[in-house]
Amino acid sequence: MTQIRLFPILLLVLSAGCSHVAGTGRSQLNMVSPSQEAELGAEAFNEATADVTLITNGPEADMVRRVGRRIVNAAEVLYPDSMVEDDQWKFVLIDDDSVQNAWAAPGGKVAIYTGILPVTKTEAGLAVVMAHEVAHVLAHHSAEQISHALLMNGVLSAGSAAMGDSANRAVVMQALGVGGQYGVALPFSRLHEAEADELGLFLMAEAGYDPRTAIAVWERMGESGSARPPEFMSTHPAPENRVEEFERLMPEAMELYHEAERHRQRAKQSR
Ligand SMILES: [Zn+2]
Repeated sequence: MTQIRLFPILLLVLSAGCSHVAGTGRSQLNMVSPSQEAELGAEAFNEATADVTLITNGPEADMVRRVGRRIVNAAEVLYPDSMVEDDQWKFVLIDDDSVQNAWAAPGGKVAIYTGILPVTKTEAGLAVVMAHEVAHVLAHHSAEQISHALLMNGVLSAGSAAMGDSANRAVVMQALGVGGQYGVALPFSRLHEAEADELGLFLMAEAGYDPRTAIAVWERMGESGSARPPEFMSTHPAPENRVEEFERLMPEAMELYHEAERHRQRAKQSR
């Protein structure tokens, strides 16, 4: 299809499905409704966790749930407009030491592999990775990817046509990255990655985790060598560029971190 022929279709779709990313204000194409996102995310999550072992008890599983809850609470404060229904969030730990990875399915399903814990090291380190994943969810990056994939396949509405039709379903599932070796291994664009880094940094700061930890974690991620996780190395910006970007955002993130801490202290004293 030529660009000229695509143009009227683009106009049609853009008028029907354009929204803004909270926190960065970037406008994005989004033809997928929140309820469709929740449905697709749950389906992707079930598919991606069907053949793995989930760790549901013990200190590490508790930590994953605790960090997830603190980040969701921070998201309610910072980005209330992009919130996911509270009961849709799910944070799980997958027992596989060979995978240094984490992923997020739309609608709030986040999975962490035990293999990434030696890289994240501390609870704040884990918060770096989890805040990044929650940011992908809040920014509706999967919905945006699906919308572009549908558009490229000539589908103008993600509603009735897209979800019911099996050919379109294949497009959707492929855009979600479901079925790869590592679960939902989304090949997010660099733009999405940079956006998730930025939102994630502020989320962790608001949640009470020192945002400076992000730099140390990404540096360790760069050193972790041969077993390059798909979500964290192959499609992400080079660790050096990423650290540079974090340094640029750090003064603002530190200010938020200290302000959130003062706020918590005041709340404690007034109780
Ligand atoms: Zn990412």
